[in-house]
Amino acid sequence: QYSFSGRVALVTGAGSGIGEAIARLLASNGLNVVVSDVSADNAQRVTSLINAEGGHAVANVANVARIDDVEAAVACAVDTFGVLHFAVNNAGIGGGQSPVGELDPAAWSRVIDVNLNGVFYGLRHQIPAILRSGGGAIVNISSILGVVGDAASPAYVAAKHAVTGLTRSAALAYAPKGIRINSIHPGYVLTPILDFLDQSALQEIAGLHPIGRLGTSDEIAHAVAFLLSEGSSFVAGVQLIADGGYTAR
Ligand code: NAD
Repeated sequence: QYSFSGRVALVTGAGSGIGEAIARLLASNGLNVVVSDVSADNAQRVTSLINAEGGHAVANVANVARIDDVEAAVACAVDTFGVLHFAVNNAGIGGGQSPVGELDPAAWSRVIDVNLNGVFYGLRHQIPAILRSGGGAIVNISSILGVVGDAASPAYVAAKHAVTGLTRSAALAYAPKGIRINSIHPGYVLTPILDFLDQSALQEIAGLHPIGRLGTSDEIAHAVAFLLSEGSSFVAGVQLIADGGYTAR
């Protein structure tokens, strides 16, 4: 039995896919949740769903690539619920799909701004608030592409590998102060981020996972819940790979 009741979590990119599943699972376990997303409509949609299911959520609109927005998202948690114990830096984008020798520098910057700088801005403002609240935990959503390379998406791979290093450094600094910080590395999960792939590409990718299929957003949400819960109280600075065996070979 995990006891999350009355605690407070901020989830970025919570308006769709994996982030939506995380926000809903945490809320269904008694957490107060800030549903933060760059899309106001989707943040509101997920917030309304949670509240209709008897949970406690508040919507926040923030672009994680803008540090002022990220600071305001943390302030929203503290203003609404009084404290902040947990954060999940999940917001992310694809893009820049070409070998590095042909990569558009603007695409590189867009991906780094959201997928790497967004996580830094999150940690920069979440950590002081969590310390003031008496400690807690943070999960950063990286990817299997934070563990292995991919010829066609160098910016995404670079950002997700950097999130691994950032997470480990943050864990070393803050484990002694009562914040456990870990990363999760999903294999391919069917969400709108994969919309650029056609059906046959998706089938081929599914086959690369020894489990024989793509993952689900709920499967990643359960890994997040574990890393935020007291059940993982001795886990800090790890890369939890949830990929159906993709990187085991
Ligand atoms: P998704 O597109 O369904 O959801 C991403 C959410 O992030 C959207 O609601 C979007 O509005 C939001 N977002 C995008 N840019 C933002 C910004 N600048 N500021 C705030 N919010 C922003 O995709 P998803 O698959 O749920 O992705 C969630 C995370 O999981 C991402 O970090 C992604 O890189 C990672 N991931 C996904 C997969 C996969 O196969 N789906 C695999 C590994 C890792």
